[in-house]
Amino acid sequence: MAKIKDLISEANKTLFSIEILPPLKGESINELFERISPLMEFKPKFVDVTYHREEYVYKQTPNGLLEKRVVKKRPGTVGICAAVMNKFQVETVPHIICGGFTKEETENALIDLNFLGIHNVLALRGDAIKSEVRFVPSADGHHYADSLVSQIIDMNNGKYLDEDMKNPMPTEFCVGVAGYPEKHFEAPNMLSDLKFLKDKVDNGADYIVTQMFFDNKKYFEFVDKCREVGINVPIIPGLKPMTNKKQLNALPSFFHIDIPDDLFKAVEACKTNEDVKNVGVEWCIAQSRELMEKGAPVLHYYSMGRAESIQKVAAAIL
Ligand code: FAD
Repeated sequence: MAKIKDLISEANKTLFSIEILPPLKGESINELFERISPLMEFKPKFVDVTYHREEYVYKQTPNGLLEKRVVKKRPGTVGICAAVMNKFQVETVPHIICGGFTKEETENALIDLNFLGIHNVLALRGDAIKSEVRFVPSADGHHYADSLVSQIIDMNNGKYLDEDMKNPMPTEFCVGVAGYPEKHFEAPNMLSDLKFLKDKVDNGADYIVTQMFFDNKKYFEFVDKCREVGINVPIIPGLKPMTNKKQLNALPSFFHIDIPDDLFKAVEACKTNEDVKNVGVEWCIAQSRELMEKGAPVLHYYSMGRAESIQKVAAAIL
């Protein structure tokens, strides 16, 4: 199976890829297959599958007390990767997060992936649990993505956590990491964020995928800044067509990004969500075309569970 870094270096044009979510617990995999089938016709070079950490929910017990339960609403990242890979013969990239994992659990998850023939991963820190204010690492877990990258690269070099293992088999993971054209929301400033991004690359990350953005200028400036500080790996732009009015506030508040004024005005003027979808698709097509013209390595589309708009964008640009 191919590594993302090789797919990029061997390509003579901009590639197309998508990110999908595992289905909600209880949903059948066939529903997911049906949802993504229209996109698979455009032959994405790879499909990322997000990882969703545990949440706390509170259930009222018969005696009136609240019981705290830990639930994962979208489990199954690894299983979905294997199933999508087998069904569509496409590279899948599971997201691996620090949150909720000890280093030992991370090692075991990576061993599973290796056995399944999945050799690409996106290494992330993950966010705080929904009801918590800040990210808290597991005891003996990674605090930041840079040390998660190091653990994966150690395994690629045959170094597992148990140093007494005899002839441990080296893995061969290609590692992607996240980058933020509009800065990660916790970073005190862009320079410090770039410093830690560089640490992830220096520790062995092969490529960067950006947070979604709606203003290409932000991506181009980010790439320039990365190159200035010596980050030389491919930087894959992440894109999402806007699909409803609520996203004008929801996307900035969730992803800490700006909506350009022209897009804001166009969406505000829409009478129905169908109109918003059309505006979102047109905006995303324009972004995609410019990114292609300027040589972006891959256009990576965040489906967030919906394929229809991305399908229209793909039909227009591919
Ligand atoms: P890090 O690189 O660890 O950075 C986190 C913050 O800490 C930054 O502000 C950084 O500047 C700072 N920092 C980094 N290293 C250090 C250090 N050594 N010392 C001090 N400060 C440091 N989340 C999920 O839960 N599941 C997913 O599937 C998922 N997929 C994503 C895909 C993409 C493409 C992107 C862009 C994000 C995704 N996220 C996902 C969200 C991501 O987990 C959050 O944005 C998280 O808050 C940061 O993750 P990171 O890997 O960028 O963190």
